[in-house]
Amino acid sequence: MIPGARLILLGRQGAGKGTQCVRLSRHYVVPHISTGDMLRAAVREGTELGRMAKQIMDAGGLVGDDIMVGIVGDRLNRDDARTRGYILDGFPRTVGQAEALDGITGERPLDVVLDLDVPRELVLERISARRVCRDCGTNYVAKSTERTPWICEVCGGDVMQRDDDTPDAINRRLDLYEEQTSPLIEYYGSGGRLAVVDGVGTPDAVFTRLVAAVELARRPA
Ligand code: ADP
Repeated sequence: MIPGARLILLGRQGAGKGTQCVRLSRHYVVPHISTGDMLRAAVREGTELGRMAKQIMDAGGLVGDDIMVGIVGDRLNRDDARTRGYILDGFPRTVGQAEALDGITGERPLDVVLDLDVPRELVLERISARRVCRDCGTNYVAKSTERTPWICEVCGGDVMQRDDDTPDAINRRLDLYEEQTSPLIEYYGSGGRLAVVDGVGTPDAVFTRLVAAVELARRPA
């Protein structure tokens, strides 16, 4: 395995993108760039961006393309991402963002776009049980007996349900995914840059499939 990679992980909310991105970022030694985490950090810090984003996120909407492209463009220009690469989680989410990303990546094109495929019925169940550490972002699965918040095993922070993991906001996000994000499968597929990976199975099994797809895409023709 050669360290360094330039990857995008697409997929429905609750498909397990976050967990798999953390593992891929360790495997390839690249930064995990999650736009959701960046926006949640801005909300915690109380910046102007955070105040604006909170309302949109809690309603399950999408933050505007110009803002998101600006944030991601700045991040991809930092040294670690320029030299080693990155794994993008939660971006792009619209065709407009994908077109802007093509302009940003320019002479350092993506290795592959991975689409983590999990059916809608299954992700609805998973998101309802999702709990997240508000400090370090580690994901947990609630078994319904726990009282919230619990203490994060990784950093000692509070583990809670995300403010946007309410049934209404989840449904809105999934509808927006079908409308705005699923066209990216065609966008990247027609350019021969897409690998669809079955996201149903244990985290280990799914991770093995993802790495196999990356290695296949990087094999010299
Ligand atoms: P999920 O995949 O569960 O929707 P994320 O953590 O990726 O969660 O994103 C949380 C929220 O942040 C989104 O619902 C949206 O409001 C906002 N967001 C994140 N990334 C983007 C993006 N690329 N474009 C627009 N909004 C975004």
